Amino acid sequence: MSFLLTFKMLVLSFIITLCSLFFMFSRSYQDAHTNIEHEMYQAKEMERISNLMIPYFRGGNGLDFLDMFWNSGIYNNLYFVYKNGNVLFNDPSENPTLISLDMRTRMWYQCAKKTGGSCLSDIYTNLFSPHEDMITYSYPVYRDGIFFGVGAFDIPIKKIRANVVSGLTITHIEFVGSTYKVYFKMNGNMLVHFFVFISSIFTVLMLSCLLYFRVIKVRLGRYKYDGLTGLLRRDSFKTNKINNQVKCFCLLDIDNFKYINDTYGHYIGDDAIKSISLCIKTTMSDRDVLFRWGGEEFLVILRAESNTKRDIDVIMERLRFSIEHLVTDGVPRFTVSIGYHVFSISDSVNGAIKKADIALYAAKRAGRNQVVCYSPTLDTLFKSVS
Ligand code: GH3
Ligand code: MG
Ligand code: MG
Repeated sequence: MSFLLTFKMLVLSFIITLCSLFFMFSRSYQDAHTNIEHEMYQAKEMERISNLMIPYFRGGNGLDFLDMFWNSGIYNNLYFVYKNGNVLFNDPSENPTLISLDMRTRMWYQCAKKTGGSCLSDIYTNLFSPHEDMITYSYPVYRDGIFFGVGAFDIPIKKIRANVVSGLTITHIEFVGSTYKVYFKMNGNMLVHFFVFISSIFTVLMLSCLLYFRVIKVRLGRYKYDGLTGLLRRDSFKTNKINNQVKCFCLLDIDNFKYINDTYGHYIGDDAIKSISLCIKTTMSDRDVLFRWGGEEFLVILRAESNTKRDIDVIMERLRFSIEHLVTDGVPRFTVSIGYHVFSISDSVNGAIKKADIALYAAKRAGRNQVVCYSPTLDTLFKSVS
């Protein structure tokens, strides 16, 4: 996966996360809003009915109306405080009763009476069963246009909160013999939460990839690879990485490179180094390992299959030939000398490279632009010079 693709995916997942977060918040706000509106609608409806009925309530009359409160399953209790202080009280366990407690000092009574409209006046915790937080809805009742008293009932807060916050909604309950099955559906909020969760993970993942590409890989790359040629740097050569798959060490050195530099300038010299690196890369197999060993010197490590000395000769000759016929815009033609040594178990890694170096020296001495394989007889030649 490329850096650009990762970056695009990161931007995309970031946008998706933002959109879903936005959607989530607007949605839960909407849900909360709708839910409370729904509660209020029912409360208003109750208020409307009670306005019609409570003023005419006498003892057992109007029981049907009071039953509606419990059938709705929403309200906990109902008070009606007459303006003379009498209280009509109903709770689910009892018949409606007139109680002697004067509730005209209660906040909900005062609020509804003084504002002349319905109020959410009081939030409290019901200390009796069911023990929960309640909100009191109160409203003034008029008879023939004259204030008659205040009605009030309590809505458990969790009823309001339940649909807003929880992720699961019971769709229906099915009775099967003496047992039953409860069916749920995931509500929109939960899906959106889930979506946000997944897209956040994706964002983090993409961010990590990006970090890998931008920082770690570049750092490692800078350390490992040579900037001009893209080949491995000499510092990253590790003798302990050399295993029995390695067949041969080859050293290449551009012939008379000084002349190119002096005649055409260093930039053309650099271009020559780049073009020869590319040529080595394309000529050699992917298995082989390539190093920029010095300024205009390269180490090629041949691995596996390049078995016999004859095979290696052919490969090296092909490489030399390719470089000799290399045509690069603005760069004069040039040649290389190659020295190689077939690696054997008795060799140390440094010893083997040294032998390739001796062979390279021999190639230079023999007139350049040629391939020489190391043999012990070359040692004397090297010694005589050094
Ligand atoms: P020989 O055939 O004996 O190898 O001759 P030569 O001129 O190539 O000899 P030598 O190895 O002494 O010269 C190498 C030159 O390569 C010297 C140095 O200035 C130049 N050189 C090394 N690295 C770079 C580089 O990155 N860019 C350029 N333009 N020149 C470089
Ligand atoms: Mg050199
Ligand atoms: Mg040279």
